[in-house]
Amino acid sequence: MDAVKKSEELPVLQVSGLKTEFPTPRGIVHAVRGIDFTLEKGDILAIVGESGCGKSASLLSIMRLIPHPGRIVEGSIKFEGKELLRFSKAEMRGVRGKDMAMVFQDPMTTLNPAYRVGEQISESLQVHGLLSGFPKRLLRREREKERAKVMELLRQVGIPSPEHRHLEYPYQFSGGMQQRILIAIALACRPKIILADEPTTALDVTVQAQVLDLMQEINEEFGTSIILVTHDLGVAAEFCDKAAVMYAGQIVESGNIEDVLSSPLHPYTQGLLRSIPQIGQRNELIPIEGDVPDLTDLSPGCSFAPRCRDAYSYCNNIEPPLIVLDNGREVRCHLHM
Ligand code: SF4
Repeated sequence: MDAVKKSEELPVLQVSGLKTEFPTPRGIVHAVRGIDFTLEKGDILAIVGESGCGKSASLLSIMRLIPHPGRIVEGSIKFEGKELLRFSKAEMRGVRGKDMAMVFQDPMTTLNPAYRVGEQISESLQVHGLLSGFPKRLLRREREKERAKVMELLRQVGIPSPEHRHLEYPYQFSGGMQQRILIAIALACRPKIILADEPTTALDVTVQAQVLDLMQEINEEFGTSIILVTHDLGVAAEFCDKAAVMYAGQIVESGNIEDVLSSPLHPYTQGLLRSIPQIGQRNELIPIEGDVPDLTDLSPGCSFAPRCRDAYSYCNNIEPPLIVLDNGREVRCHLHM
C-alpha cells in the first residue's frame, strides 16, 4: 500500500542535467546543455524559444529518439521514478506510444500516405499488445474489438463519420483533420505524457484553436501531462500552466506561465514579449537583434550576452548559474544574483 502511494506521488517525468550533443564536421553541436524540469500528473508545460534553441532536441532526447551520431552525454530522465537512460532499446520501444507519445509538427510527413488512417491507428494498439494474445478462433472477435477501438479514438478527436473515414487515406483529410489523426494515434494507448512538437504550426488559426481545445479536453479527462514545444507565446499563454524558456540549449527562465509572461525576469523572455503583439497595447514591436549563437562555438560567459540590452562586462566571461527564487521561479541571469 505504501509502495503504491509512494509511486503515485512521484512526478510523472523528471529531467535533470540533460545534455545532448551532435558531432559534426564543424565541431560538436551542444544542442541541449543541462536542462532540468519536473512534470507532475496533469501538468501542461510550454517549452518556448526561437528556432535553434534546443526545444525539439530536448523532446527527442526524452523519447530517446536522437538520430545517430547525436547522443545524450549526461543527465537523467526519470519516468515515474524509472531511469529511462538505463532502459534497453526494446524496453524503450515499450515506453514509446504506450507511456509517452509524441505528436509531430507536420502531419503530412508523419502519416504514411500508403496506409488507411484506421490501419495506422490500430498499428499502435497492436504494437503494444492491446489487441493481441487472443487464441486463433477469436481472431474475428479481436478484429471487431480493434475496429471499435479505432472508431472510439476517431470519435474522441472529433472526426465525423468514423465508420467510413477510417478507411480513407491521409490525403483525403485536411491539415487539421490529419493532426487530429496524429493525436488519435498518440492517444491510442492512453499515454501518461504527450510530447507535442509545434503541433499547430502548420495549421490555420481556427484549426489551431480546435486542436488545442482537443488537447486540453484530453488533459482534463484523462489527466494526461503534456509538454508543448512552441515558438508562439500566445498559444503557450492560452493553453499551458507552466513555462520553460529555452535559449542556446539551456532553460533560461521557468515558472508558472502567468508569472513568466506578466513579469518576465530574463532579458531574453522580455525581448520575446516585446516582439509580439499584446491585446490592448499599441506598443511598437521590437525584435531581438542578432541571431541565436552557433552551438558549436559558445562563449564562456552568458550565451545571450551579444544580444542582451542589459549585458555588462561580467556577462561575457562568467556563465550565469541557475538561480532558484522563492516563488518557484528559476532564472539564469547575473542580474538576479
Ligand atoms: Fe543579459 Fe548578463 Fe543576464 Fe546574460 S547574464 S541575460 S548578458 S544581463
